[in-house]
Amino acid sequence: MKSIVVVGAGFAGAYAARGILRRLPADYQLVLINPSPDFVFKPLIHELATGVFGKSVVTEPIGSFLRHKRFQFVQAAATKIDLQKQSVSVGRRSVGYDYLVLASGSGTNFFGVPGAEKFCCKLESVKDAALIKSALLSLRQNSRIVIIGGGPTGIELSAEVAVFASQLKKNASVTVIDISPRLLPQVSGRFRAKVQKYLLKHSISFLPGSGAAKISKNSVTTGKGSKLHADLIIWAAGIKPNLIAASQRIHQVEGYFAVDKYLRLKNCRNVFAAGDCAFVVNPDGKPVPALAQSAVAEGSAVAKNVLADINNKPLHEFVFHSKGFILTLGRGYAVADIKGFVFAGFFAWWLNRLAYLTAMMTFPHRFYVLMKWKIGFFRRRNAKKI
Ligand SMILES: Cc1cc2nc3c(=O)[nH]c(=O)nc-3n(C[C@H](O)[C@H](O)[C@H](O)COP(=O)(O)OP(=O)(O)OC[C@H]3O[C@@H](n4cnc5c(N)ncnc54)[C@H](O)[C@@H]3O)c2cc1C
Repeated sequence: MKSIVVVGAGFAGAYAARGILRRLPADYQLVLINPSPDFVFKPLIHELATGVFGKSVVTEPIGSFLRHKRFQFVQAAATKIDLQKQSVSVGRRSVGYDYLVLASGSGTNFFGVPGAEKFCCKLESVKDAALIKSALLSLRQNSRIVIIGGGPTGIELSAEVAVFASQLKKNASVTVIDISPRLLPQVSGRFRAKVQKYLLKHSISFLPGSGAAKISKNSVTTGKGSKLHADLIIWAAGIKPNLIAASQRIHQVEGYFAVDKYLRLKNCRNVFAAGDCAFVVNPDGKPVPALAQSAVAEGSAVAKNVLADINNKPLHEFVFHSKGFILTLGRGYAVADIKGFVFAGFFAWWLNRLAYLTAMMTFPHRFYVLMKWKIGFFRRRNAKKI
């Protein structure tokens, strides 16, 4: 029996595996390797950390949406790839492949800032969310929370933290610092103005041009030399790809797996890469952003190309078409840019919820989450540890 091996069950890996399983050729099996038995909906991690809902909304068991008599799940982390022997090491075991899909995602990039890894909470997994929530619950009155990184993740997090801290009556201050001289440099002026207005209204401070240079237990020293006291420091400043060691050199761009227009590793016709671990470029030369919507599109495209290659059909060139950008800020409010049309409010928030619902893996889970959101909207946030 021939094998297709998928490494990673985030958006890219789950969509690739599901697409392949729908038309799995009779002489193939599919093996999925992932450290956890659950698919984790990462864009909701900060809402899990701030009590908007529980773990059951953010995770879906892999077995609930990947089922096939020739499907095998290996719960472990892949440790090494051998491109010549066509195998992936998983602990002491080795899994052979005819086609390999790399979708190992990304982790936190602390950019070597002294003390960052030791003293900051990060925001990447359910475990991280549990740590942040527990830290928020145990804050004393008038505490100071510093969020490092004023990109979309840091800003969304600051809004959720401010609402949660206010519900807990902690009278906490929330400050976001960023090395960039402007808030959200990637968005339009109208978009930025709406976000700035929200931050101002909710007393969230934004310090531009202030990269973190050193972190200690209760303080952040910026590159400009100023020292901010902090009772809780959360790092939301960047990602780096989860690369897997290989016995042969794999082409990389800026540390990411380099792929061609069919999402194949360069010079490797039977290995594909998708999602946050891959450096994907659109035909216009612009890099595709590391987002859930691009990981979904890339995972689906890889599934089509693996099947096309097996069936000796031409491969499809990958082109990413953005569906728009929505930044949620607390309960029932978001700012959206859909094809250049910028608007804010409840409708934008609801559009974001709809987009998330459609990206979830099964209909029962979507229905469950919809019910949870409807009920949760009128309730106080969950103030129990995860
Ligand atoms: C807090 C937060 C908010 C975000 N908000 C948004 C948003 O609003 N909109 C948006 O579009 N995107 C958002 N993103 C980004 C989005 O979540 C990622 O771009 C997306 O998850 C990437 O999907 P992926 O499949 O490449 O990787 P991941 O979702 O990271 O999945 C990778 C999988 O691979 C597994 N893995 C890692 N190493 C190995 C290994 N060695 N062997 C086997 N398996 C391995 C991991 O355990 C994981 O299951 C957000 C991210 C975060 C953290």
